[in-house]
Amino acid sequence: MVWALRRALDAARDPLEPGRGRGAAGGPERCPILLENAAGAGGTVGRDLEELGEILSRARAGAALGVCLDTQHLWASGVDFGTPQTADAVVARVDATVGLAALGCLHLNDSKVPLGANRDRHANLGEGLIGAAALGCLLAHPALQDRPAILEVPGAGHGPRAEDVAAARRALAAGRRRWAVAANRPATAAGRRRPGARASQNSAGVAGGEARDAG
Ligand SMILES: [Zn+2]
Repeated sequence: MVWALRRALDAARDPLEPGRGRGAAGGPERCPILLENAAGAGGTVGRDLEELGEILSRARAGAALGVCLDTQHLWASGVDFGTPQTADAVVARVDATVGLAALGCLHLNDSKVPLGANRDRHANLGEGLIGAAALGCLLAHPALQDRPAILEVPGAGHGPRAEDVAAARRALAAGRRRWAVAANRPATAAGRRRPGARASQNSAGVAGGEARDAG
């Protein structure tokens, strides 16, 4: 295990000991700390979901510790989610590694760098290389509809503007249309569903239909 990861685990364990804040308003159970997936540069901690899953399980902090999924970091670390099928695979992977219940929120941003570039460079929605359509596919995933998505874009240099919020709403609406189209396809090839498809109860049929098309 890398030194930085060990240090993060040591730092996380004590203050997040289960039950420590129980009963106190604002204790760790009421306001969990969310660890964000990293873009994958150098020796950063949390460069993939498997590493975040290991941190969560070793910290044994229960609901006091969770995960924030950052779309630009996900893309920069080499994970594509531009169709309902690939977005569903990401959600299944989240469920298999950190557990879907531990996913506290999304950080929504486009990317100035290509897929797998391992650099943390946020762009406004629709002005980057991921594209609003792809972001919408993840944003509209049926299993994520009760998760807050926090717009984390530069705007004109001072953070999100009203037009960036409008762009996010358009991306969500477009993503929902793509999920609706996918859901209307006949759900065949049930035997070929990925094991992780259980992560998204509403989309298990979609995953099957998409897998058939991809095959
Ligand atoms: Zn972020």
